Amino acid sequence: MHKIVILGAGYAGMITAATLVGRTKKRADVQITVVNATERFTERLRLHQLASGQELAQLSIPEMLPEVEFIQGWVTAVDPDARTVRVDDERVVEYDTLVYALGGVADTHGVPGVDDHAYTLDSAHNAELLAHRLATMTTGTVAVIGSGLTGLEAAAELAERHPELGVVLLGREEPGATMAAKAKAHTEAALARLGVTVRSGVEVVKVLPDGVALAGGETVDADVVLWTSGVRISVLAKGVEMDEHGRIVTDDALRSVSHPNVYAVGDVAAIRQRYGLMHGTCQSGMPTGAHAAMSIVRELNGKAPKAFRFGYLHMPVSLGRNDAVIQFTRPDSSPRRMALTGRRAVWYKETVSGAPWPTYGRIKKFPAMGSVWTHGGRYTR
Ligand SMILES: Cc1cc2nc3c(=O)[nH]c(=O)nc-3n(C[C@H](O)[C@H](O)[C@H](O)COP(=O)(O)OP(=O)(O)OC[C@H]3O[C@@H](n4cnc5c(N)ncnc54)[C@H](O)[C@@H]3O)c2cc1C
Repeated sequence: MHKIVILGAGYAGMITAATLVGRTKKRADVQITVVNATERFTERLRLHQLASGQELAQLSIPEMLPEVEFIQGWVTAVDPDARTVRVDDERVVEYDTLVYALGGVADTHGVPGVDDHAYTLDSAHNAELLAHRLATMTTGTVAVIGSGLTGLEAAAELAERHPELGVVLLGREEPGATMAAKAKAHTEAALARLGVTVRSGVEVVKVLPDGVALAGGETVDADVVLWTSGVRISVLAKGVEMDEHGRIVTDDALRSVSHPNVYAVGDVAAIRQRYGLMHGTCQSGMPTGAHAAMSIVRELNGKAPKAFRFGYLHMPVSLGRNDAVIQFTRPDSSPRRMALTGRRAVWYKETVSGAPWPTYGRIKKFPAMGSVWTHGGRYTR
């Protein structure tokens, strides 16, 4: 029996598991185990909606993947030499092939006070804590730190849902800095319409109980601080080669360069393409998961895995529930001129956000779907 253990059932881990189920259903010599912190599948793309007080679908991982062994628990360590995973410090799970898909969280360690005073969108629980806090407020200010796409979506969502509160978006870059002119202008106009105050070009150096301190000495008052800046990866697999951000360095088939029986997918993987290192998105994480699954099956069949090739297609950004912007991109993620805005963009964004979990069911039935992402069409460079 070949034991495949998948750590993390987010977007990348789920598609790895579903593709493996689809591609090994005629084999009796493969056992697939999925370990995840929660039984509920976290739609991370929608956590800003949850934080603003909206309800999300309750999606159960064991119900979506009844074919695999599911272990609910917190992975505390991986021993790549003994080929074991420790769960909740007590249970030990053995593997022959490991798929590391634990994702990343906002980087709360670099700036003092973030862990003590700021909310994050790292999990459904964290988002719900913020939603409960906002539900108790009738007036006051929310400071969203980080002007990247997560901070931008969060600021717009909170401002639309809580017009009684002031929302300030603070960060180094202007919101939409990675977009071309049309999409960026639309983003700026939407934030202004929603009443979001934007402070770009600022560096937050400390989070206080009642605001944030900026480099240069200024403080910005806030009743609630939401931290969305940076990405931190938990380093649990000692001895596995990582880059300076804690991401597992992979070969072109997505295997760890130091431990080839460890695959890394999604946000935890440092994957090099011709244009440079990929950055973590759902858009790229799902193809990595499908590709890893197909590579594992090829190896089980005595074949060499194929190289992973990926190019970005778009940057879909919600601006509350009634507006959005879709910046189309070149494969290296740089913006093209073309963008969608308004109602058509809302429809497009909603289609993209709602697509992942129905895909898990479809790919089990039609596992060849995985090839569309990984070897064909727009995603190939
Ligand atoms: C608010 C928000 C909006 C976003 N919007 C977009 C978007 O529009 N488009 C886009 O492409 N990307 C978006 N992203 C980024 C996207 O969500 C991530 O790139 C994507 O989730 C990465 O998938 P993943 O499977 O690698 O990790 P995740 O989806 O984060 O999954 C990791 C899984 O591992 C589990 N886990 C973590 N640590 C442990 C542990 N120690 N033990 C057990 N289980 C553990 C987690 O519970 C989770 O289920 C957004 C992110 C946020 C926060």
